[in-house]
Amino acid sequence: MTAEETVLTARQVLPEPSAPIRDGAVLVRGESVVAVGARADVLAQASPDAVHHDFGDATVLPGLVNCHVHLAFDAGKDPVGTLAETSGDALIAGGIERARQLLRSGVTTVRDLGDRDGLAFAVRARADETLPRILAAGAPITVPGGHCHFFGGETTGDDEIRALVDANAAAGADVIKVMASGGQMTPGGANMWESQFDARQLGVLVEHAGRHGLPVAAHAHGADAIEASVEAGVSTIEHCTWMVAPQQTDLREHVAKKMAERGIAACSTSSPNWRMMRDRMGPEIAKKVYGRLTWMDGLGVTLIAGTDAGLPGSVFDNPVGGLELYEWLGFSRTRILEIATVDSARVLGLGEVTGRLAAGYSADLLVVDGDPLKALSALHDVRLVMARGLQLAG
Ligand SMILES: [Zn+2]
Repeated sequence: MTAEETVLTARQVLPEPSAPIRDGAVLVRGESVVAVGARADVLAQASPDAVHHDFGDATVLPGLVNCHVHLAFDAGKDPVGTLAETSGDALIAGGIERARQLLRSGVTTVRDLGDRDGLAFAVRARADETLPRILAAGAPITVPGGHCHFFGGETTGDDEIRALVDANAAAGADVIKVMASGGQMTPGGANMWESQFDARQLGVLVEHAGRHGLPVAAHAHGADAIEASVEAGVSTIEHCTWMVAPQQTDLREHVAKKMAERGIAACSTSSPNWRMMRDRMGPEIAKKVYGRLTWMDGLGVTLIAGTDAGLPGSVFDNPVGGLELYEWLGFSRTRILEIATVDSARVLGLGEVTGRLAAGYSADLLVVDGDPLKALSALHDVRLVMARGLQLAG
């Protein structure tokens, strides 16, 4: 029996954001894309009994990638407190619902960068057809009482670092997450600009993760923590805010250049909350804080999309809100869509799997009303989401 074929036609198809096809079509067979191109060409390749959906004035584009979420957090006012009171089936049910919200809003690939009790692994294991592809880190590696210690990843010394890497790898981790600096959610822990690990310890961690074939994602607000993480050879820097003191940054060009040379990407973790933060900081400081993205882009650092969904107000169903930060910074919409699809997929090691629409790629796509190259807000008007060939109405 041959797998079912579906043809999607629309006024615009974006195999990748920089190469729009007017009046295009995508042919899907089973879980994969079989053909993408001009409507007539693709229709000629479809079998006579293929199901044909025409979306009129809509745009078909690759499914979005969110490289930084926390399925364990509920995006409410006190995610840490709520998590402390939640466990077992209730925790898993919450994680599944949040993964569904991501998918319904067009995110077909998601990377969870820290949870408790192996939540993301459990969600993935109970995955039915309504969930996105999930990459997961398990418990982030931190120091005693350190940033997000409540996830269960406290370590003291090299042996415990290696042991936690082993445990996460055994549980099915796709990436090792380390809290290289302090953060905002852990009273009593290091400040955001202070390091929790030095370059030597991070080197031990990266080397040991490498034995399992796993990349490392480093949470690093502090400029020192960023520099140490780059020195150690991590794969992505999360937040990457270059802080040295409260409201004070130190953009170290030699470090950013190394990131560019070594292919170490930066994930801005910009949530839909960025406007509120901008207004609270005032335009001058906001330009400095968010301007780091423009500065890194100019130096050739790869930027990837992530929202830190799960933190207060960082909801799971608004991937567009975070992307609009880049628009405010002056990035072109083509470039923004590249960050959210092809670039993020490549950095996650999925460059041959998803992030673009081409023959042989996973059928991960999104149909939206209008043209997101003219107005990013078009991404809100989801008509259809397809994840590995499975359809979900918007
Ligand atoms: Zn995070």
